[in-house]
Amino acid sequence: MAADGRQFSGLSDAQVRAFDTAAREARSFRESLPRRPARPTLSLDDAVGRFLGPLPEGGMPEDEVVAQIVQESDGGLHSMAAPTFFGYVLGGSHPVGVAADFLVSAWGQNSGTSFETPAITGMERAVCDWVIDLLGLPSGSGSGLVTGGTVANMVGVMAARHALLAAQGWDVEAHGLFGAPEVPVIIGQDAHSAPFAALRYAGFGAKRVHKVATDAEGRIDPDAFRDALSQCDAPPLVILQAGQINTGAFDPFSELIPLVRAKQGWVHVDGAFGLWVAAVPELAERLSGVSDADSWAVDLHKWLNAPFDAGMVIVRDRAPLVASMSARGAYLPDTTAYWEPADTTPELSRRARGVPSYAILRHLGRTGVRELVMRHCRLANQIAKALSAEPGIRVLNEIHSNQVAIACGDGPDGDTLTMRTLERVQGRGKVYPTHGEWAGRKIIRASVIGYAMQDADADLLSAEIIDAFRWCQDHPE
Ligand SMILES: *Cc1c(COP(=O)(O)O)cnc(C)c1O
Repeated sequence: MAADGRQFSGLSDAQVRAFDTAAREARSFRESLPRRPARPTLSLDDAVGRFLGPLPEGGMPEDEVVAQIVQESDGGLHSMAAPTFFGYVLGGSHPVGVAADFLVSAWGQNSGTSFETPAITGMERAVCDWVIDLLGLPSGSGSGLVTGGTVANMVGVMAARHALLAAQGWDVEAHGLFGAPEVPVIIGQDAHSAPFAALRYAGFGAKRVHKVATDAEGRIDPDAFRDALSQCDAPPLVILQAGQINTGAFDPFSELIPLVRAKQGWVHVDGAFGLWVAAVPELAERLSGVSDADSWAVDLHKWLNAPFDAGMVIVRDRAPLVASMSARGAYLPDTTAYWEPADTTPELSRRARGVPSYAILRHLGRTGVRELVMRHCRLANQIAKALSAEPGIRVLNEIHSNQVAIACGDGPDGDTLTMRTLERVQGRGKVYPTHGEWAGRKIIRASVIGYAMQDADADLLSAEIIDAFRWCQDHPE
């Protein structure tokens, strides 16, 4: 007890030990990644079973809780942060971001209002400025740091909803969508599921859209697009894509966006991972024209390798973004003129989500980000080349960025062979690609995106797939 009778000492002994244990175990987990199997060794039921059961009547000291969580999670964690993880499109949680993330939790800042957390505001504004600059998007755009690509798409679509309906004299925030003028929606047939979720959340409906035909790489076909536009009798919401999930391809922005402009429409770009290619001057031409859109969704926990969860919405005209998101209570500081996280995101209370990204950007610098993205694109090419050289294995896509779509054999038998090959690769536990479907085929999909991935990891992936493929051919079911 302090001399004046106050008891709060900051941390109790058990709490100090809890902090120390967490830091030590966090470090030892990351150091053990090279020796860990690529995927969990426990079954789902076994892993989940360790945690379910009645809530204990009595509690447990903090340090013991942390130690037990570590112990009980063993075998039930995936090596997603390792350079052997090629599944989905996931960043590898860069250690400097993870370290900064410890601070985010320890600082306990509710960062919804900048007035109360000025240092966080400084770092988060820097992240927004830097990312907009890196991606070559219009400076002065509005932006918000959200939980990921899905929410970033939702916020972008809601800003569009505000602007398009306001232009038709309708205040959607006040009156909702019942009785509102129609807003046509156009989207590519090979879009990710996230923009469809965004359309649902924003009240547009996932099916009330015009899906436009795409080419062999999943890019919107300009003629089909023109046709769809010509059928719009009001300014449309158009959703384009930077980075198709299977092929990594980009829609032809410079051809499509002026057509939408001519119709006074709004272009939103889902660039969850692919927009980062714009940060590389040597490759940026692939996204030529993308900066002419009205809003963009991008993930920080994908190519920037921020720890989960972090994404960003960027809107050229900040006003519709604020109009759609801001929900001010009378008890909040009146800082209307300033940069308020709660004005551009759906959350009010929020963790200092941008701090880990700030740390990563400070660590990498402009050069480091470019090197990272360029290296991954180079490695994707390297994987495609190695696999294409194996008779019976085909890479179905051109390498536009970091995604490789791999098929074994041909036809229905080929699909079976592909899935058996994938299962064997995953089962061997050295690398972890995942599955998908592309061009009417089941595929093994490899995403090169983890911060630590180097040539040897790409070569290991290729060798594992080729080995497994040969084995499956030699051992028919
Ligand atoms: C990952 C991804 C999303 C969804 O982002 P989350 O961060 O998972 O919510 C949306 N679009 C594309 C193209 C993606 O790759």
